[in-house]
Parts: sequence; structure tokens; C-alpha cells
Amino acid sequence: MRLDKFVAQSLQLPRSAARTLITKGRVTVDGKVCKKADTALSGAETVAAEGKPLSCQQFVYIMLNKPKGVVSASTDKRDRTVVDLLEGAFPRRELFPAGRLDKTSTGFVLLTDDGAFAHAILSPRRHVPKTYRVELDTPVTPAMVAAFEEGVTLADGERMQPAGLIPDPENPLAATVVLRQGVYHQIKRMFGVLDAGVNELHRQAIGGLSLDPQLAPGQWRQLSAEELQQLA
Ligand code: URA
Repeated sequence: MRLDKFVAQSLQLPRSAARTLITKGRVTVDGKVCKKADTALSGAETVAAEGKPLSCQQFVYIMLNKPKGVVSASTDKRDRTVVDLLEGAFPRRELFPAGRLDKTSTGFVLLTDDGAFAHAILSPRRHVPKTYRVELDTPVTPAMVAAFEEGVTLADGERMQPAGLIPDPENPLAATVVLRQGVYHQIKRMFGVLDAGVNELHRQAIGGLSLDPQLAPGQWRQLSAEELQQLA
């Protein structure tokens, strides 16, 4: 791809504005100022404008390990949001979380600016499974497992789709939950009607992609193309 096209696409500028940036010496290729707009790029170069590295990806996809106390939103008047945790790393992108985790829940949040992709991940018709680890205030029982398998009816009468509940053989209070739908406070409400309180709730995976164990709470990284495939 030509340098001016790359700069225009990654900064979402008209090609003429990208050329002006380049000819004014504000763009570097592999650390060196490059004033030739028609320079051919192989794709392996690092291009920066005004010192900031550029990416020509059409959309951004981020895996983030949400800590407790942070809300799954783009902006909030009171609380820190998952987008705040990116600390302005993508100034020209309108990123939002694809799916919510409660303020007290932790784990895998996918952030993107690709609305169609987010819709596909969240659509109940696509049945993308979400996997959680839960810790309850009471032991997990075979009756709970059966109720999840059957489909729990919430206190407001709404019947949930069948869900997986796999007890942890080493901890009677812990289990893995697999959901294929996303109703507000779903897991807490499902356990609520079974007289169990949820003490800890951590999302471990979306589709076939697990949260990277290297990401400490609050940390994030972009997904590779292969990882993106594993999500859907
Ligand atoms: N179910 C809940 O109750 N809370 C979450 O954060 C996610 C699923």
C-alpha cells in the first residue's frame, strides 16, 4: 500500500490531508522522516504520525481483564469505565464494550469499534457461549445443576435458556457456568431463585477464546486475527 493511503486510512483523513502531513515531514517510516507520499509499504514497516504509531486496521478488537469497581460502559459520570482503562490509546476510535459485566464482576471484556461484530457476538441467535467462574455463599448442589440444565425461571417469571453448571470438584462453593444468552444480572438472578448468593463472578472465556492469564486486572491487549476467529 502507498504511504499516503495508509496514513489517510489509519487517521481517517482525506488523502490530500495525509499527503500534507507527509510532505511537511510529520510522518516517519521505521523511525525516519519520509516525505514521499507514494512510498510503497510492504506492511512490515512501523509508520508513525507526529510520533504516534499508526495502524491501518479497519476496526480494533481488545481483550481486557476488568477489575472490580470498574463499569462496563464507554463513559460514566461517577465510576471508572473499561474504556478509561485504555488511557487514550486509541484517540480516534469510538470503542465500546461488547457485552456487560457487572461492576462487581471481573474478567474478560471485549472492546471494539466494530458494531456488526459486537452484535454478532451478543446475538442470542448466534449462541456464542460465555464461560464464568462463580463462587457462591452456599455449596453447589445437584439440584442446582439440574435446574440450570432445565432452564431457571427468574423471579419476574422469565424462563432462561438451559445453561451449564459444572461444580468444581475441589471447592464445593465454586463452579463453572456456561451461558448462551445475556440477560441483565443473569447469573446472580438465576442463583438467587435457587437461594444462593454469588460472592465472586469472573468471566473466563467468550466463545472459544479464553482470557489471557498474562493480563493482570486492569490490563489489556489487542487480539490477533486468529484469536478473533475463536471468538465467534
Ligand atoms: N451475570 C451476572 O449476574 N453478572 C455478570 O456480570 C455477568 C453475568
